[in-house]
Amino acid sequence: MADQRSSQRVLVVDHEETIRYLLHDLLASEGCEVRVAASAGEALEFAGEQPPAVALLDIKLPGINGLELLERLKEKCPETEVVMMTSYASLEVAIEAIRHGAYDFLQKPFDDLETTWLSVRRALEKYNLAKEKRALQCEQERQNSQLSLAVSRLWSLIEAGRAIAEFSSLPKLLDHFIGVVADKLEVDRASLMLVDPSSQELHVASARGLDDIEDLTVIRVPLGSGIAGRVAATGESFVVRDIRSDLRLNEQCAKNDLSHSFISAPVVLSVPIASRTIVLGVINVTNRRSGAAFTEDDLAYLSGLAGQLAVAIERTRHFDELQSAYETLKATKEQLVFAERMRATGQMAAGLAHDFNNLLSVILARSEFVLRSLGSAEPDPEKLRADAEAIKRSCLHGAQMIRRIQDCTRIRRDVEETAVDLNAVVRNAVDMTGPKWKEEPEARGRRVEIVFELGEIPPVRGNAQELVQVIGNLIFNAIEAMPAGGTLRFQTVADGEQVRLEVSDTGVGMNEETRRRIFEPFFTTKTTGHGLGTSIIYGIVTRHGGDISVASQPNRGTTFRVLLPAMEQMSRTESHPVRRRERERMTPVRLLFAEDDDLVRDVFVEALRMNGHDVVAVRDGDHAARRIETDRFDLVVTDLSMPGLSGFELAGLVKQHQPDTSIILLSGWAVQQDEERVRQAGIDRVLAKPCLVEELLDAVHEIVRERSVEPALSQR
Ligand code: ADP
Ligand code: MG
Repeated sequence: MADQRSSQRVLVVDHEETIRYLLHDLLASEGCEVRVAASAGEALEFAGEQPPAVALLDIKLPGINGLELLERLKEKCPETEVVMMTSYASLEVAIEAIRHGAYDFLQKPFDDLETTWLSVRRALEKYNLAKEKRALQCEQERQNSQLSLAVSRLWSLIEAGRAIAEFSSLPKLLDHFIGVVADKLEVDRASLMLVDPSSQELHVASARGLDDIEDLTVIRVPLGSGIAGRVAATGESFVVRDIRSDLRLNEQCAKNDLSHSFISAPVVLSVPIASRTIVLGVINVTNRRSGAAFTEDDLAYLSGLAGQLAVAIERTRHFDELQSAYETLKATKEQLVFAERMRATGQMAAGLAHDFNNLLSVILARSEFVLRSLGSAEPDPEKLRADAEAIKRSCLHGAQMIRRIQDCTRIRRDVEETAVDLNAVVRNAVDMTGPKWKEEPEARGRRVEIVFELGEIPPVRGNAQELVQVIGNLIFNAIEAMPAGGTLRFQTVADGEQVRLEVSDTGVGMNEETRRRIFEPFFTTKTTGHGLGTSIIYGIVTRHGGDISVASQPNRGTTFRVLLPAMEQMSRTESHPVRRRERERMTPVRLLFAEDDDLVRDVFVEALRMNGHDVVAVRDGDHAARRIETDRFDLVVTDLSMPGLSGFELAGLVKQHQPDTSIILLSGWAVQQDEERVRQAGIDRVLAKPCLVEELLDAVHEIVRERSVEPALSQR
């Protein structure tokens, strides 16, 4: 209605009253809403109140030029169409008026009122067309901006989908999402809450603009309480135009939310993050920068984002579950592998224990011979020597066995690689698995023949104890494949830059399927098998940069072929044994000997003294320490574990008081491997117990020679 009238509003400005009346009547009769003004001032005042659609201006007004009024009117109401009226019609005036923005001009006196109306009507039409055009433009702009908002939101939804794939960690992804929400919905406060399934509470997982809250982690909203709690409980979105007047919120709840919740603004939008079956969380937005309420579009947009997020959260959770299941599996596998290694070690150790008993029987018997012989009237020196030699040999053999046990019970992964003689490793492994290939089958009346075809081979770079395990496991499998006995063959050959080892049995063999799967962890065809032996073998061989393959024929036998990289040169720096002659010329040194075992101490001290050394013997770490503080020695020989100070601690004390004094550590423990610790303690040599007297004498001599220590003894 108002529109209708404004479109017909005409202002007539003329100082001649008759003209004003004439035009008023004419235009009013045509349905226009007419106002008349006699002066420019009046005209501008009326135009200021209600801008006319068309103004008819007399060109000659008192005090002001009509053209000037035209200009000022256009300034005030730029949309108004102006028709000039003049009695002095001349082309120049008309052109001038049009140039100043007039639409048309009329000539006074109006001899043809029809023409006059026509001109006004055309001006009115022009005004209304322009107005319509403006309205259309406005509408288009509005639609454009809505469209671009919709496009940008759509785009952000697509981006969100992409972000899901990009972010590997859930917290980062959530933070990214809440940033997008705050940005796209133009809000100052946004929070993303997740449901804690165990406590049935919501907690804030990520937020924007909640800086006024000191500690977000303490916020806990029970499901069903407050806005967020309700949304989480019902799975339905919540749009609040004014928190205080919203009837859906009882007073208590609204007060709570306003007083100590993070949802502190009157305008709230809260949507659930829901998967197909459960609500995982809630997104809340408040404090819209424009202050406007949230629209259906906003709700749809936020729900779209929440939907994407639900997928992402579920995906991450599944991934986490999978990860932890995988970890459990891995741990179980490691445990089983360890158990399998232990089982193998146990079997080997059992074999050694058996051999060890034999050895002790020999020593026992020979010592009895010696004693009996000494008790006789005329002891036979040759027989005595033979017995003593046999005892010594047995002891040496025993010492070697102990070292082997230590080798295969060391559970160390970082053992430095050395040059390894694969032939020795083979013999070692065969020795250690004696019970498996000898006693067990023989007890059942079966025989396993062992054949060695060990060639000239260069050393391989590796870890002897691990390689013993490889061969041990191959032996176990081969024996298990020959329940009726058979032949077990070991062959080593140099093969270019590699060393080839073949372990063949004449057992049951295997079919193609087994051959293909043989190295799979847990693959077994045995009722009591663990299926890990070959995995351990495979792991060790590949760690050594080698390769393993299997050839087999059912009922004929199996051959495992192991290829290991050869080492170009023996890097082992074997110390040259000191010749007896040299030792005989050995410079005597002053020496502190710390050992708690009386038998061991007496034997070594006696031997050292027999070789001319000046020995102070002590039976524990504390006595040794006291001596170190008061006396001076060329060399300290110490046991590792003794009452009082340990060998390492004593070494520290020696280095502190007598930095030039050399140290030899005697130990029954496998400390050689702890090279770093040995080096740090300033220990010069480690001798493994049981240790031969000769070995100790050689070590003493070597140290003196190497360091060219000026012996304290000779200075005195
Ligand atoms: P397990 O001995 O516990 O079964 P392994 O990993 O040591 O596990 O061996 C896996 C499978 O490979 C065995 O169950 C067996 O079927 C096959 N296998 C291994 N070595 C031989 C062999 N020398 N002769 C025949 N089959 C073998
Ligand atoms: Mg096995």
